[in-house]
Amino acid sequence: MKLLTKNILGIIFSLLALALLFSAFYTGQEKIQTLSLDQLATKINSGEVSKIAVMGNDLNIDLKNNQKAVSKKEAESGLSETLKNYGVDPNALQKVSLEIQEQSGWKYWLGILIPVLLPIILIGVFFWMTFRQAKSGMSQAFTFGRANIKLFSSFKNKITFADVAGLKEAKQELMEVVDFLKNPKKYLEIGAKIPKGVLLLGSPGTGKTLLARAVAGEAEVPFFHISASEFVEMFVGVGAARTRDAFANVKRAAPAILFIDEIDAVGRERGAGLGGGHDEREQTLNQILVEMDGFDNETSVIVLAATNRPDVLDQALLRPGRFDRRVILDLPDINDREAILKIHSRNKPLSPTVVLRQIAVRTPGFSGADLENLMNEAAILTARKGEKEIIQTSLYESIEKVLLGPERRSRVLNQKEKEITAYHEAGHALIAASLKNTDPVHKVSVVARGHAGGYTLKLPSEDVHLKTKTQFLSDLAVMLGGFSAEEIMFKDVSTGASNDLQTASELARRLVTKFGMSEKLGPITFGKTQELIFLGREIATEKNYSEKVATQIDEEVKKFIERAYTAAKKIITSRKNVLEAIAKKLMTEETIEREEFDKLIKGFRLKPLTI
Ligand code: ADP
Ligand code: MG
Ligand code: ZN
Repeated sequence: MKLLTKNILGIIFSLLALALLFSAFYTGQEKIQTLSLDQLATKINSGEVSKIAVMGNDLNIDLKNNQKAVSKKEAESGLSETLKNYGVDPNALQKVSLEIQEQSGWKYWLGILIPVLLPIILIGVFFWMTFRQAKSGMSQAFTFGRANIKLFSSFKNKITFADVAGLKEAKQELMEVVDFLKNPKKYLEIGAKIPKGVLLLGSPGTGKTLLARAVAGEAEVPFFHISASEFVEMFVGVGAARTRDAFANVKRAAPAILFIDEIDAVGRERGAGLGGGHDEREQTLNQILVEMDGFDNETSVIVLAATNRPDVLDQALLRPGRFDRRVILDLPDINDREAILKIHSRNKPLSPTVVLRQIAVRTPGFSGADLENLMNEAAILTARKGEKEIIQTSLYESIEKVLLGPERRSRVLNQKEKEITAYHEAGHALIAASLKNTDPVHKVSVVARGHAGGYTLKLPSEDVHLKTKTQFLSDLAVMLGGFSAEEIMFKDVSTGASNDLQTASELARRLVTKFGMSEKLGPITFGKTQELIFLGREIATEKNYSEKVATQIDEEVKKFIERAYTAAKKIITSRKNVLEAIAKKLMTEETIEREEFDKLIKGFRLKPLTI
């Protein structure tokens, strides 16, 4: 960009200079009239011309009335001959003084040279600029094979296992690696094979990068960090070269740790069809394997690689001698969450009344990164309110912010929309409060948040690892509560329920095809899914059942939804007064917290129902 503006400026300046030059030539000659040869002949005959100066083919004519004129003669013939041809009387011509001037001087040469040289110079400058650009581009191209590897070996703010909360098993596994890096001799003497690669598996934000750095910190060795996607970015044919370069760098610094982040970017199962059979990826992957195989037992370099997609990894990566060790990083449980919160509140002023345990209780499913984010949001909120210490309510508020995105008070609902949203959310909340097997309602609100128009926040009272069919059915009924409430109260439904319906349909399908919870189809799973439970995410499903079974699955899914829908409608119809009470309160107060909600519900003495 800078170069371009420079070029354009240069061109503009040279054009300006040229214009000046030319105007210097021609000023002063502008009022001089130009005569054609026969006009000149007539003037000579009538005796109006006193002098003609010949300069090359140019004729500078002085007229008797002290005016000047210019003309041109024919190139091949002399002046007198030309004039004769135009019928000039020789006698008249004799009265005119003729003067032949030397064709010289810078003006003359410039006049000849500029028209010739100018285009050549311009073209030359143009080529020169293009070449210069191409050259700088080329020297960039030569660095493409170099790995963009980052070295963190500053021991000043090094990270150790003390900075990583929880993850006990993972730390234990990695202690071995640390020990090896510290005293390789001990292992080599016994003839033990040293681990070359360790794969860290875990959802985003569970602390894979953090843990890898902690290993380096504990072992006090340099830590090299590269993202696998950087190996292959942009240009074809450099992935392998970069890999070689990266490994060479690390080997020079051995003992050291090379951390390859997001290794699934290159380590995908070859020919799996996901993301296309990318040749470049394969070559990079092969190069990584070659490099790892090339470590002799003395090379104390350990490769740590992180991924949240272990299911797509190429088997070749997992073979002995490569990434044969796997360390799983789970989402933190309540104790770990408390510990993580404590770590991230180290440099923040917490009010003495804050109970971090209470925050941990309310954040099941949060990753380490979420919790860090939560603490940060709380600090921001505190600063914005102009307070000096973080208090408990700011932390609570931040939980919701991390969960749902910021409140959008600016999105104004009109009265009708507000009413519909209030009844919709009241529907969810009422079903959740009525059924036995649901999570308690933490908060109901008609204030828009993120994409949701309103929301009902239910949170499990403890970490759950198993869920029963009854609980799922109750969840389905709660999801359909909003839709049912709208339908019963307004005899009409809105688009506000579409997200609920989608979540419900997906859940119902999982019940049938994954959890074997359909009575008709029995305890079979359908569809071969490449999924790891701890990631809780579906990657790709291969259909391994017939069309007939597909129809049955659809029927069973529908049955689950219908059962939940009927239950929801029944509860709402029979407890309309409660629904109205909740909705009215929502319309006036917009948000109901758990304590208030419990109090409101208690007043009706509802009997817990089952589905
Ligand atoms: P990943 O690489 O698994 O996506 P990171 O290691 O980048 O996750 O974690 C992101 C941030 O979350 C870390 O910088 C750290 O501050 C925080 N974090 C995650 N897990 C923990 C943990 N167990 N203890 C302390 N902080 C954690
Ligand atoms: Mg990471
Ligand atoms: Zn809803």
